[in-house]
Amino acid sequence: MTDPATPKTRDQAAARRVLDENYPFKCCAVCGLQIETCLTVAHLDHDATNNTPDNLARLCQTHHWMYDAGLYPIEAIRLLQAHWQTTKGTPDHSGRMKDAGAKAALTRKRRAAARKAVDTRRRRAKLDH
Ligand SMILES: [Zn+2]
Repeated sequence: MTDPATPKTRDQAAARRVLDENYPFKCCAVCGLQIETCLTVAHLDHDATNNTPDNLARLCQTHHWMYDAGLYPIEAIRLLQAHWQTTKGTPDHSGRMKDAGAKAALTRKRRAAARKAVDTRRRRAKLDH
């Protein structure tokens, strides 16, 4: 039965095909959940007939609900979805550790400054009494 008011009908199978072709790593675009039975097809512009790759994302039920409630910007979903395809859910801590040395040095510097401030306050407190 076709509804004359909606000449283009939603085609979930087609949407899934587009997703499989463009985003072979199957997971929720937000949390990375890979349990296929928990994944839903989201039409990011809320037009169920728009099956362009940019408009589709796999989302778990929680994140689909949150997206529909306006809690995530569309750009975030697109960026995350692309990123999951790159990482395939494999953690990589090298990027975060890159400047670990510099960060540690900064922390040491800040600690030294804090100690100096405490010393100065103590010295001043002694002079006042
Ligand atoms: Zn999720």
